Amino acid sequence: MDESKKKELLLKLENSKKNYKNQLPNKILKIEQTWDLLINDPWDQDRFITFHRMVHTIAGSSGTFGLPAVGDVARQLEIIVKGQLELEEEPSVHIREKIHDELLNLSSITNKSIQTDTPPITVTNELEQQQLHHVNKDENNLIYFVEEDEELSLELATQISHYGYRVQTFNTLKQFFKAMKKDEPAIILMDVILSDGDGCEAVNEIQKDRATSIPTIFISEKSELTTRLNAAKAGGEEFFTKPLNVTDLVDKLDKFVQADDNEPFRILIVDDSVSMAQHFSLILQQTGMETAVVTDPLTVMEPLDNFRPDLILMDIYMPGCSGLELAKVIRQQEAFVSVPIVYLSGETDLKKQLAAMSLGGDDFLTKPIQPEHLVLSVTSRVKRSRILRNFMIRDGLTGLYNHTQTKEFLDMEIARAKRDNTQLAFAMVDMDKFKLVNDTYGHPTGDRVIKSLARLLKQRLRKSDIVGRYGGEEFAVILPNTNATTAEKILNEIRIAFGKISHKYKDILFNKTFSCGVAVYPGFADGTELNNAADNALYEAKEGGRNRVVFATETST
Ligand code: GH3
Ligand code: MG
Ligand code: MG
Repeated sequence: MDESKKKELLLKLENSKKNYKNQLPNKILKIEQTWDLLINDPWDQDRFITFHRMVHTIAGSSGTFGLPAVGDVARQLEIIVKGQLELEEEPSVHIREKIHDELLNLSSITNKSIQTDTPPITVTNELEQQQLHHVNKDENNLIYFVEEDEELSLELATQISHYGYRVQTFNTLKQFFKAMKKDEPAIILMDVILSDGDGCEAVNEIQKDRATSIPTIFISEKSELTTRLNAAKAGGEEFFTKPLNVTDLVDKLDKFVQADDNEPFRILIVDDSVSMAQHFSLILQQTGMETAVVTDPLTVMEPLDNFRPDLILMDIYMPGCSGLELAKVIRQQEAFVSVPIVYLSGETDLKKQLAAMSLGGDDFLTKPIQPEHLVLSVTSRVKRSRILRNFMIRDGLTGLYNHTQTKEFLDMEIARAKRDNTQLAFAMVDMDKFKLVNDTYGHPTGDRVIKSLARLLKQRLRKSDIVGRYGGEEFAVILPNTNATTAEKILNEIRIAFGKISHKYKDILFNKTFSCGVAVYPGFADGTELNNAADNALYEAKEGGRNRVVFATETST
């Protein structure tokens, strides 16, 4: 997240605390007034339930907004009120006195607390890095490649650049140091021995004053242990020996940039208290997550469908419908069976906590909740559930979406295009004469070629585009908000780039090509029609001589 956005969020957090502080005396006053009515009018059990609700809310929220002492007293009071509430009878004089005393206590602690300044809310850098440790491909795909052998460095740089990276080569350390002063790369590729110095020492020099080091891959003629040790000491993440296998190298580069999983976590917050919901929302946003807030539990269904949260933060105690009941309803729908739910509550009653767990909720956080604790709980749960989900919807060899998931995305994207009145291109990509690769070089080599095309597609397309593995050596690409002209340009660029990539089998280098059939919405009106049209266009591309992109015309099918 950039600095100005972060500042803005911090400011909002501080403001929400200030607002809470400002409103608190009035809330306490209302509690006192309700109590006065309770003891002066004939006893009214419903009014007593309201009274309990008001106290409960203060007990849960004040700690979170930096007033823990108020929270403690309110909780004391709540325990007495709740005990009485369960008896369902008018309180004795003794209990009335106790409640009265605690109310006085609450009001005086409140006055004291709001006069002293509360410490500002911060989320540590470490937490932030959990979300932001990867290099963002869209922002920085620059690689510095330091290699003495000019020919080798140019050849490799060309190969790597086919995968969407920008590569700058340097034949001496001097050039490299000079460039480092101007522009910082996302990754350094460094030969260990150069004519003007030692690659490991050079990287040490670069990294020593940096807060976060630049991922570095060392390359060497030999794989001796001492060389490897030196590289490791210099913080080398990987070590490659010559001759380099470009596919493996790019695999490693991709790991560092993780182009795939930098989608921000989406958290849905369900809490009837607007201020609490906003507060949690701001804390999570501060670490780069996206949030949606529901304050009326009965309206939860729409954001579930549209926002597709990775996790739901759910208040337990809400009017009209408890968090537990709501969780049960959500889980009855197949699409949300596995969405983790984290309950938020001032509820300390163990039995209710256990009931919540048995409904499939993953965790229980008791208010007041420390920002760090909230962020950690949410982060670890979302990570775990994303891993599980990935197993279900992704293809094992390439990591791309599988056939079923791709089709689901196609339907979703068509629906969106319809809503937004935009075009959408759907492409089927099939490798040419792929059987030959398997027959000539064996199946494992074939697999590597499949992976390299998968990677190229991912690298070359936008984050909003969807790439799936449709079957063996066949891929599907969804390009939302894209017309035929643009789609043709993009797909042909990828086709040409793929044709230039050298694949390796032992000492043999070879190239492959693919054919591509494209259909554009709204020319074809739904998923099935787009699929058929793209398939027919692909067939035409094959018939027409392969290694080409063919568009389906509305009359040709
Ligand atoms: P063309 O599409 O140009 O007409 O020729 P082709 O040789 O690619 O034709 P076809 O689609 O019939 O053959 C695809 C081959 O891809 C068949 C199979 O041996 C191979 N294949 C499918 N899945 C995999 C896989 O996961 N790994 C490997 N190595 N090969 C696969
Ligand atoms: Mg084929
Ligand atoms: Mg095929």
